[in-house]
Amino acid sequence: MTTAATTDPTCLFCRIARREIPSTPVYEDEEFFAFRDIAPKAPTHVLVVPKKHLARLSEASPSDAPLLARLFLVLAAVAKAERAVDYRLVVNNGADAGQSVDHLHVHLLAGRSFSWPPG
Ligand code: 5GP
Ligand code: ZN
Repeated sequence: MTTAATTDPTCLFCRIARREIPSTPVYEDEEFFAFRDIAPKAPTHVLVVPKKHLARLSEASPSDAPLLARLFLVLAAVAKAERAVDYRLVVNNGADAGQSVDHLHVHLLAGRSFSWPPG
């Protein structure tokens, strides 16, 4: 398991994960931090981030595979804790895809129905 997470002192989500900036946490372990989105797009809108600073999914390397696998298990556990049965997971990779914070995060959205394809 990764113990020494690489963090960026200027990164918003690194700072939130270190609790230097307040948030509403819903889950934390050695590798991950989950907190409520400040501008929720659904009744349940949680962001799950690895504590390791990765700017975006496309910066992940094969050595990150175990971390990314565990990220999905954490997402499922957070969804269960939120009593979400049907939910949507979103990763915006890059500005044109809607990414506004350069720290890998997965949106967990639930509590309403979602259209497809996304906008
Ligand atoms: P992105 O657009 O990068 O995929 O998602 C970034 C998300 O972070 C947005 O949904 C936005 O509302 C959320 N966000 C931005 N700044 C903050 C903040 O300071 N605190 C929290 N809790 N969420 C934030
Ligand atoms: Zn970061």
